[in-house]
Amino acid sequence: MCGIIAYVGNKPAASVVLEGLKKLEYRGYDSWGIVALTNDLQQPFSVIKRIGKIGHINSDYINEAIKLESHTALGHTRWATHGGVTEQNTHPHLDCTGRIAVVHNGIVENYQQLRSELAGHGFVSQTDTEAIPHLIEHLMVKEGMSFVDAARKAAGMLQGRSAFVAVNSGTKQVVAARKGAPLILGVHENNDKEFFIASDVTAFLDHTNKVMYIDDNEMAVIDGRAAFFNLTTGNETVKRVVEIHWHRGHANKEGYDHFLIKEIMEQKDTLALAINQDDAKIMAVAEEIKAAYGTFFVGCGTAGKVCMAADYLFSKIAKKHVNSVVASEFGNYQDYLTPKTLMIPISQSGETADVLEAIDVAKSKNVKVISLLNVFGSTMMRMSDDFFMINAGAERAVVSTKATTAQLAVVMLLAYATAGKLQEGKLLLMNTAAAVNDMLNPRYDEHIKKLAALLSDRKDMFVIGRGINYPAALEAAIKMQETCYTNAQGLAGGELKHGPLALVEEGTPCIVLVANDETKSDILGNAMEVKARGGYIIGVSPENNEIFDYWLKVPDVGNASPIVNIIPVQILAYHVAVLRGCDPDFPRNLAKSVTVK
Ligand code: GLU
Repeated sequence: MCGIIAYVGNKPAASVVLEGLKKLEYRGYDSWGIVALTNDLQQPFSVIKRIGKIGHINSDYINEAIKLESHTALGHTRWATHGGVTEQNTHPHLDCTGRIAVVHNGIVENYQQLRSELAGHGFVSQTDTEAIPHLIEHLMVKEGMSFVDAARKAAGMLQGRSAFVAVNSGTKQVVAARKGAPLILGVHENNDKEFFIASDVTAFLDHTNKVMYIDDNEMAVIDGRAAFFNLTTGNETVKRVVEIHWHRGHANKEGYDHFLIKEIMEQKDTLALAINQDDAKIMAVAEEIKAAYGTFFVGCGTAGKVCMAADYLFSKIAKKHVNSVVASEFGNYQDYLTPKTLMIPISQSGETADVLEAIDVAKSKNVKVISLLNVFGSTMMRMSDDFFMINAGAERAVVSTKATTAQLAVVMLLAYATAGKLQEGKLLLMNTAAAVNDMLNPRYDEHIKKLAALLSDRKDMFVIGRGINYPAALEAAIKMQETCYTNAQGLAGGELKHGPLALVEEGTPCIVLVANDETKSDILGNAMEVKARGGYIIGVSPENNEIFDYWLKVPDVGNASPIVNIIPVQILAYHVAVLRGCDPDFPRNLAKSVTVK
């Protein structure tokens, strides 16, 4: 998964690409690279590659490194899949002649076979990507193809989900091929002046909101104008310019030290925005859920935990069984799918490869797809029959917070609507939003900061919950894992005694998510079992209890308890990360939008 941005036009291309890359960093930040076209026949490309994040790099630095005012440049921010995090493995990758440069997103699954067929070519990296420029070169030299034909044929030979942009210094043409991974073209009025190609529209929205969608199995060729071709047939396809009227919101830190804490605090407002949905549409989808021959909520990671919460919430609120499936496993359920099945995929970015692949599976079985998303114009939106925006606004921190609670809120609305109680659900969520607004005050933050200091040298932890707070416990554990690298295990309270209790020692922290519902006395009993073995009990609960060593008070919001119970753990994870010197916005080894399988 990575971010691609390419620019052709009159502006200094490397600077445009640099700024675009900064907006794409959420997709990967192992390393970044830019290639700009020069007028020097001997050295047609100027290339810069660096390890680490691009955030602090400015235009002067790039212009100094590139040393020219180029009008064509490609950029890439990498999340390594094949080959370590080294400058050599950083994109762009070049062919043997140094005249073709490629940036690539995704995985070339047959790269070993391609690389062995291209024996004799001078490979300098361990990446799968490097097969692409050499393959294009091979097709041009050995089969006498034009650059565009060779790029098209090469794209057809790649297995797996990916997308690449290639530039040829000889013809100055740029091609963008899409095979399962997103690429979008930005243009000006007449499709003739300036062109942007990016993994996601946010990379160029500052310049233009006019786009031409590159569909799957298609390629765009920029050669004075943009033309589109089907990758299989080579036939030209006709496109129209579409205007995108959407702004991700102001994605800066607004005085906070990190995006993560800013976004946690934004939950004061985002819940209210999430429930601001069209009642008629919510009711119509609720009817579809009732009529469906099986509804599947599908997501990965945090969104996967929201799907699991859907399972509990629908059962509790609507007395209706729905399925929740981890997106990467969804294919294994395909034998259950019929045209009467409904799929509700959930993804903040709408670009998560596992989710997109699951949608492909659903579509192949004529399943109706209604998605929950936060990024307008994303691939998931375009693949879905219908969608709900969760309205959380730009989420820049890799660790998801406000999008998660917004997703939960929309899922709850659907559950209440399915029960025929939409207004009751709305009222509950409006009260929850107000209670969260009150809760997120500086004193609360300070109180959690003190707990963070107590826990900062603990590398292990349990988080337990029951019922609708079991998925919340799993989600809380993910927060601790990814933000401050605590080996946190999320568990259903009842499972402790079946194994994990053996790990409890003197002082082992255990966060207990308590709700004022039928699970309360059982979960407190489970907390007691941990305490009896020396555990340190952190109660997240509307009421204090003598077994808590530390109490994090949350409002009593009935069925919305997973929303309010997750929030203090988000704050705790943030403060522990800061105390430990971890970067809360960019956890190691991760990326926000997981665009590879
Ligand atoms: N598979 C390629 C690599 O490891 C691209 C990864 C990406 O999408 O960032 O370099």
